[in-house]
Amino acid sequence: MAPTKSKFAFPIAALLLAIPATHGNAIAQSNGKVTSYINTLPKQTLSAAETADLVMMRQEEKLARDVYKVLYDVWKLPAFSNIAASEQSHMDLCKFLLDRYALPDPNPSDAVGIFKDAQFTHLFQVLVLFGIQSQDHALVVGAFIEDLDIADLDDTLARSDNRDLDTLYQNLQLGSRNHLRSFYGLLANRNLFYPGIVLPTSRIVSIALSPHENGAVDENGLPL
Ligand code: ZN
Ligand code: ZN
Repeated sequence: MAPTKSKFAFPIAALLLAIPATHGNAIAQSNGKVTSYINTLPKQTLSAAETADLVMMRQEEKLARDVYKVLYDVWKLPAFSNIAASEQSHMDLCKFLLDRYALPDPNPSDAVGIFKDAQFTHLFQVLVLFGIQSQDHALVVGAFIEDLDIADLDDTLARSDNRDLDTLYQNLQLGSRNHLRSFYGLLANRNLFYPGIVLPTSRIVSIALSPHENGAVDENGLPL
């Protein structure tokens, strides 16, 4: 198995939507802490796997942002617009690392639903098609994206020995845990249980039932 693939792979398809990006102040502050910290770290050579992972995560954060933007447009649930803004900040952090190593942005456009890799294009379409069925479906899509994201970040952390990349991934994963808590809780309010599709149920439940995490963290997941 190729070490740099996301856990899901689908054939190519095409779908175009365009919605502008948004930002929040608290998010910008947290990103500022992370980028300031990364600027104090040495640049370390990127292995092929580390490069491929960074390219993958830049797209995976866009997948989350784009799906949530569409689902917010359809359902007007505030969680989707708030979390889409957080995903924009995650995309920005990935771009910061790409720039640091003078790597090109894999996303050919910022337009919603546009990705370099076919697996993300198709995943976007499948998740949107599922999420527009009902608000319950949409919240399951949210929980699934965070479940996938946390699992992929486990893998990228395991494959990276660069302090700056690890700092990025730790912060993305902290965000994903908070997002999972939100979607899991919103589903629970509707008497729906999200059991985990990628991660084991025990891990999903232990994250979902643990407290919201604030602030920024270092390469070991400790507060900055
Ligand atoms: Zn994210
Ligand atoms: Zn997320």
